Amino acid sequence: MICINCFHVKTRVANSRPHTKPSVWRRRKCNSCQAVFTTYEKPSLDDRPILQNNSQTDAFNIGRLIISISRSFQHDTKAAKYASLHLAETVESKLIATTKPLSTDDITAITYETIRHYDPVAGVQYAAQHDLVTSTRRPGRPSTSFSYED
Ligand SMILES: [Zn+2]
Repeated sequence: MICINCFHVKTRVANSRPHTKPSVWRRRKCNSCQAVFTTYEKPSLDDRPILQNNSQTDAFNIGRLIISISRSFQHDTKAAKYASLHLAETVESKLIATTKPLSTDDITAITYETIRHYDPVAGVQYAAQHDLVTSTRRPGRPSTSFSYED
């Protein structure tokens, strides 16, 4: 890899360790200017077509995912700014670890579970925005149907 500081063609790995599986964290050092920088190596989703509801396929787009996640944090703008990228990367890692063909529904389900685990309120907002809410009836409440027997 070239140096990000002086564009010298040779850098060496000074330190390396597995990060959050399946990625690898590396500290690189330039042989010319001695600049040190960090890289992450992880499998790519570029060659994994994502099946859409209209039976077309599309490429995975982490930018779209980040925007979609940040929309679920309208109650917490700080989290929208700082957690959205991290949550999107967590979703991406889970998708990489999934061996079956991927669909937009899979991405939605995994994103929902990831957001819900981090912030239940954001989970509810994400579910509402993606039509994951199938029933609005609250548990334990009586049915709203009446019978007239007099
Ligand atoms: Zn350099």
